Amino acid sequence: MEKILRGYIFRMYPNKNQQILIEKSFGTSRYIYNYFLEKSKEYYMNAYEYIKELPSLTKENNWLKEVDGCLLRTSIFDLDNAYQKQRKERKGILKFKNKYQSRQSYRTNNIINHYKEKTYESIKLDLEKRTITLPKLKEIKIKGYRNLKRINGRIISATIYKEADKYYVSLCLEEEVITPLFIPASIVGIDVGIKELVVTSEGKIYKNQKQIKKYEEKIKGLNRWLSRAKVGSKNRYKIKKKLARTYQKLKNARKYYLHRISKEIVEEHDMIVTEKLTITNMVKNKQLSKAIYDASWNELIRQLEYKSKWLGKKLYKIETYYPSSQICNHCGYQEKKVKDLSIRKWSCHNCKNENERDLNASINIMYEGVKRYIEELQVS
Ligand SMILES: [Zn+2]
Repeated sequence: MEKILRGYIFRMYPNKNQQILIEKSFGTSRYIYNYFLEKSKEYYMNAYEYIKELPSLTKENNWLKEVDGCLLRTSIFDLDNAYQKQRKERKGILKFKNKYQSRQSYRTNNIINHYKEKTYESIKLDLEKRTITLPKLKEIKIKGYRNLKRINGRIISATIYKEADKYYVSLCLEEEVITPLFIPASIVGIDVGIKELVVTSEGKIYKNQKQIKKYEEKIKGLNRWLSRAKVGSKNRYKIKKKLARTYQKLKNARKYYLHRISKEIVEEHDMIVTEKLTITNMVKNKQLSKAIYDASWNELIRQLEYKSKWLGKKLYKIETYYPSSQICNHCGYQEKKVKDLSIRKWSCHNCKNENERDLNASINIMYEGVKRYIEELQVS
């Protein structure tokens, strides 16, 4: 048995009073983060040292007691994580959080108590009633995962957040999965690109969706409007709001599509091979769409990774030290002129076979995965 972490995101429908308390919680979480960030500017201690200061801080500021006490601690841990990350990557300075950020959030951990042979948990998910119970907030209506009847894991934490005026709860669960004996029956190579989103070594193509392109166009247009709108004007505020909503729609549409693709690929194959995304994959393109493609590719590979794990499949991420699109999959000859991205089809100088750019690349990626797999067998 192996333990894995799994996330679920539900839309939440808090009532007026619950909304007020959630907003207060966002504010408190921000306050704690900023308070200790300010303190750490002189000298950084660690999360545990800061947590020791919480009792005296709440004594001085009674309003800190109005919200779920756990979030005071998680805010400190978030600061600690951000600080460690910044130190490791040696870049930027930590910024204070403000209430104008597009995403407001706080996190609370599931605290489990045993009392008189009964177990009490601070976070409770009821899939029959479709509600979630959170500390201080009591029951909130939720929507999402219509076919999900039960969960097998233990809730570790919940992040409550708001995006474009909608509330969500993201649950982190620890689940146990069975790892079966692995004998691959089907192997697939995956090539990601701009022309087509995904091309598999079987020749299956997942196109960039029209719906998504439509949203992208709309965002471009709105951004143009925004640049012309007067700062502080009502119009500017309206455009900004529209922009946030369109971004949200784009994000959801893309996510839904990527989930469909990753599910299909992982269900149909036992071994999945992708390239590690590096600079070579990043193509000169208009700023906006490039960022979106990068995000899609990364998200797709992330989904393939964890879904492979759930279903006991194998995933290889191969290094892109060799140019998968320039090598002929029939004979191994390298055709350098194929570097030019506008060449979609080429015939090999050496073996005269016709190669389609993306399909050829995905087949080469698959071969690399097979090589890795054979190497592993020889080692073990
Ligand atoms: Zn060839």
